[in-house]
Amino acid sequence: MLDWSDTKPVARPLPPNIAAPAADATGLGAIERGAARVSVDEKRMINARADVNQLLPLKYKWAWEKYLAGCNNHWMPTEVSMQADIALWKSRDGLTEDERRMLKRNLGFFAASESLVANNIVLAIYRHLTNPECRQYLLRQAFEEAVHTHTFQYIVESLGLDDGELFNMYREVPSITDKAAWALKHTQSLDDPAFATGTPEADQQFLRDLVAFYVVFEGMWFYTGFAQILSLGRRNKMVGIAEQYQYILRDESLHLNFGIDVINQIKAENPHLWTPAFQDEVRAMLADAAELEAAYGRDTIPRGFLGLNAALCEQYMHFIANRRCAQLGLAPVFAEVENPFPWMSEAMDLKKEKNFFETRVIEYQNGGALAWD
Ligand code: MN
Ligand code: FE
Repeated sequence: MLDWSDTKPVARPLPPNIAAPAADATGLGAIERGAARVSVDEKRMINARADVNQLLPLKYKWAWEKYLAGCNNHWMPTEVSMQADIALWKSRDGLTEDERRMLKRNLGFFAASESLVANNIVLAIYRHLTNPECRQYLLRQAFEEAVHTHTFQYIVESLGLDDGELFNMYREVPSITDKAAWALKHTQSLDDPAFATGTPEADQQFLRDLVAFYVVFEGMWFYTGFAQILSLGRRNKMVGIAEQYQYILRDESLHLNFGIDVINQIKAENPHLWTPAFQDEVRAMLADAAELEAAYGRDTIPRGFLGLNAALCEQYMHFIANRRCAQLGLAPVFAEVENPFPWMSEAMDLKKEKNFFETRVIEYQNGGALAWD
């Protein structure tokens, strides 16, 4: 029989009068040789003292399940045919000027936003979320954001759009700049090398950034963006882009739900952060975000067309903002309104109508037969 006794972890007592070492939030600190093994009870969303490099034992099964769901949703934009979109875009009267303006503004908003979201995950959120199963999801999400940015590269290339115009809209179109700048200020405060969680003020700052990106950016602004393109797709226009947006929407609905779970779990573990004043602040953030979106809607769809106009987009934003409040356990910010785009929920259920994934899985399996030559 082998003797494993020398590998048995021993908790080393701390020398007297020395405070416990600062928690290593990054996972990059010196290895604590022979430290006690991680127990589930020590795992925390933020400010954990448990080693962040040990995935198991799992504490937050919802995070692991979302990681698996993200992997099961794998897709690539280049698998969607752009032939019909190219023909329509190049035809003289296939799209109205209003539809072209909406399409370009929409693509311009998303093209840079996917990068902003990715940067926020990698440069702000990841460092401070001290839980390995959540970090596993963040790594998957970061790749999905790369796939989304790739989608806009592929659309620009397929349609022969002016890439400078599209990728600079977030700096050149004020209604897009206003949204990006509003969210970015929260990332900037976390990106400061001196920033660390662990005080109520800093932990609330971290929550604000989670709200700005998961709830507002991905959970509100992206949804009007999806509704705009999918309403074109419902009229058989730009069907390739509409299909790509359906895949992005499926990914984003997971991102949003992960973010909501993260915020609610942090609340549960740190009830002192979720004060009435802070709740009001979060509600005010969602109200501001809806106003920024309404301004963008007026700019993007100044005249409106079949089934879509700025007023309906604003109403949709109020409906969505109230839903997000409910998901966070907050009172609604707007008077109750009806969902003007009830078909959006069907759009999220891709599998009903398409066998795209069944065909594609076989291709990946073929690709998986490794050849090393
Ligand atoms: Mn995305
Ligand atoms: Fe996302």
